[in-house]
Amino acid sequence: MTARIIDGKAVAADIRQQVAAEVAAFQAQSGITPHLAAVLVGEDPASAVYVRNKQNACSKAGFKSTLHRLPAETTQDDLLKLVRELNADREVHGILVQLPLPKHIHEQAVLDTVTPLKDVDCFHAENVGLMVQGRPRFLPCTPHGVQQLLLASGTEVAGAHAVVLGRSEIVGKPMSMMLVQRGAAANATVTICHSRTRDLAQLVRQADIVIAAIGQPKFVTADMIKPGAVVIDVGINRVGEELVGDVDYEAVKEVASAITPVPGGVGPMTIAMLLKNTLTAARIQSGN
Ligand code: NDP
Repeated sequence: MTARIIDGKAVAADIRQQVAAEVAAFQAQSGITPHLAAVLVGEDPASAVYVRNKQNACSKAGFKSTLHRLPAETTQDDLLKLVRELNADREVHGILVQLPLPKHIHEQAVLDTVTPLKDVDCFHAENVGLMVQGRPRFLPCTPHGVQQLLLASGTEVAGAHAVVLGRSEIVGKPMSMMLVQRGAAANATVTICHSRTRDLAQLVRQADIVIAAIGQPKFVTADMIKPGAVVIDVGINRVGEELVGDVDYEAVKEVASAITPVPGGVGPMTIAMLLKNTLTAARIQSGN
């Protein structure tokens, strides 16, 4: 069997088009242009590319976007001051602090300072709590993007055994929580694996849906995949000049029924879902 390729680029383009239409309608009705403020500290080239991509996507969808670029030696106090200014700025609806931050800055302290109503990454404890309780204000962008890919590919998630590799606050943990909720692309039975998991390969072999988010190039091999499973690869790893996922794509696609490529799978979805959250933030703040 050769797997169907789940085309994240195409699904993301559809969602972005839909968001652009909603932005135009919102603007016509309220006179408000949704505005995302991004904060980039330091010179990490990958982070600069991510922020630029997010800003380009914003402009194309009719959002206003501004970038606050700070030098690597910015103090935590100065960064917190900027975040508080953005919190108070009525013209700004969403705040994105690009991670990672330089080592001398306590990331959690910064993320905790973003006001929950503008927390379009859904990293604040209040928003995570609402999501876990099944009454989300925002959904975290990458896991939400994965769910949209499961929907778009017609994957039967309800009742399926989903194995999530990784338990980070950004991907693995919220992903698991979202899959176990009631609702669309959910109602799964979920196993979460991490670096301390015993017999990991054995667990992955039982999965109907595998979601790999560990940051280990080609870690998931064909012998770990149950024939016909759906495989979603969140990983982005630079190996030499090449970008590869956490899944050994060429081999696994011969066993799986559907699979996402890297690049062109989950990555574009993360940006599309960020746009959705920014529009939601503008709606909430305008009382709409
Ligand atoms: P983190 O490094 O924060 O977390 C990695 C998780 O994987 C941890 O829970 C860790 O376990 C687990 N892990 C690491 N090695 C192993 C192993 N050998 N066996 C089992 N578990 C392991 O990474 P992120 O969640 O932020 O990102 C994961 C990947 O996804 C990265 O490649 C990243 O670049 C990519 N990514 C892609 C995005 C996209 O838009 N496509 C967005 C965000 C991330 P433990 O907790 O025990 O240490």
